[in-house]
Amino acid sequence: MAATRKAKNETFRDTTKKKDVREANIEAAKAVADAVRTSLGPRGMDKMVAAANGEVIITNDGATILNKMTVTHPAAKMLVELAKSQDVVAGDGTTSVVVICGALLKKAQELLERGIHPTVISDSFNTAANKACEILESIAIPVNLEDKESLIRAANTSLSSKVVSQHSSFMSPMAVDAVLRVMDPQHANLLDLRDIRVVCKVGGTIDDSELVAGCVFDQKAAKSAGGPTRVEKAKIGLIQFHVSPPKSDIENTVVISDYAQMDRVYKEERNYILGMVKKIKASGCNVLLIQKSILRDAVTDLSLHYLAKAKIMVVRDVEREDIEFISKTLGCLPIAHIDSMRPEKLATADLVEEVDCGKGKVVKVTGIAAQGRTATVLLRGSNKLVLEEAERSLHDALCVIRCLVQKRFLITGGASPEVEVGYQLSKWSKTLRGMEAYCVRAFAEALEVVPYTLAENAGLNPIQIVTELRNLHADGNGAYYGINVKKGSVTDMREEKVVQPLLVTSSALTLATECVRMILKIDDIVPVR
Ligand code: ADP
Ligand code: MG
Repeated sequence: MAATRKAKNETFRDTTKKKDVREANIEAAKAVADAVRTSLGPRGMDKMVAAANGEVIITNDGATILNKMTVTHPAAKMLVELAKSQDVVAGDGTTSVVVICGALLKKAQELLERGIHPTVISDSFNTAANKACEILESIAIPVNLEDKESLIRAANTSLSSKVVSQHSSFMSPMAVDAVLRVMDPQHANLLDLRDIRVVCKVGGTIDDSELVAGCVFDQKAAKSAGGPTRVEKAKIGLIQFHVSPPKSDIENTVVISDYAQMDRVYKEERNYILGMVKKIKASGCNVLLIQKSILRDAVTDLSLHYLAKAKIMVVRDVEREDIEFISKTLGCLPIAHIDSMRPEKLATADLVEEVDCGKGKVVKVTGIAAQGRTATVLLRGSNKLVLEEAERSLHDALCVIRCLVQKRFLITGGASPEVEVGYQLSKWSKTLRGMEAYCVRAFAEALEVVPYTLAENAGLNPIQIVTELRNLHADGNGAYYGINVKKGSVTDMREEKVVQPLLVTSSALTLATECVRMILKIDDIVPVR
């Protein structure tokens, strides 16, 4: 008797545990979603992220906020990953994806409470998400890459929620130009944003930023020995070897006992370096870019001295990971050994010059003869915090244009797509039967979180705005009606020119659904060591 009761108790405990695990997971994930909700939209707030080491970041970007947050709960970590995957796929919409996921989870919780099985909810949400993407495609507006105006508008929308929004009239065209410059019209889908390098320099304002036709190095020219800092008609060599005497092995010691021997060592060293510099000069090279070395100094005072005498400008400490970009930009190959220092390996440019830039200096290479498809943005800002946020914002704008290159459709913003999808989905759910219809309707209702939050963050009355939007969309004449944050009313977003790429919203919906389905399917947490 006792044994059966015990067994009964155990099975009972087991099911509550599964329920508890699911509850706890959903609660944790919802808490994370709530943390970024106030950042959504053009009137959203920024977050100040203070790390334990005293580092401070000010940002509005969902992925960055979550990435920096110390999240310990495993389910909450899934939301961090969700924001990251949206960042990879679309680059923008990272706050939206998390907010939508939170709303879907809340609905899922309600459905679970009503006794609907998690698998049914999960499958219905999947159906709903697929249908939602279809609806989005049906209201999308095709865009042509020649239509620069539209691209700039989309970049404007993504910048409108950032600290740097007042500079968007300047930054958006810059972002569009940068992308169009690196894009190969024949293979537009191979667009790689790593071909756009952003060099950040503190000092000045965002308006001082520029898109440089050429290459920029974030370091001074080495001029301790009085070498040139400006070279016209430059012949540039990108080298990966050292212009310094070879070093003995670490364990070896050379004992020098008299001055004559010491003289010989110095002489040998001088001859060795002089030989190298002569070879470099003989190739016609007058600007040397030297890769940073960790094994030994890539240049010594002595070699700098000889290079300066030979009127060769030196930029040292070029990072290893930049080599690929630089060689693509300059249209030359890196040179790995002094013996392969030949004229045909050098790049040609009209001017290499060290210029003042804020507090420091940069080296600019312009008028490159065989420039590859790359672009360099020299970003300026009055302080580090603004500058870093400007870089992240620029990244979002660049990604938005990349989205448009990959999938050439625009949709309107201001929560108009979410409301339209919500309306059409709930209409469609009436054609379905049973639990599925119920779950799809819940999915549609969850999407109202976007207009609700946008209105709330803009200081408007969310209930009034959402009702108005819902009515306009239901009348069948307002697929493009959304929240006009400036006027505080509901207007046609096409007239406001608030547009965003289709890919951003459709991937936000699919990724958020995928995350919810994953959380629903978990019924236990197994700690392992
Ligand atoms: P995310 O990180 O998700 O991109 P944002 O803070 O950039 O978050 O906000 C994006 C949301 O703000 C989108 O739903 C977009 O439609 C809306 N939005 C952006 N600009 C405007 C605007 N000028 N008017 C109305 N809504 C806007
Ligand atoms: Mg955005």
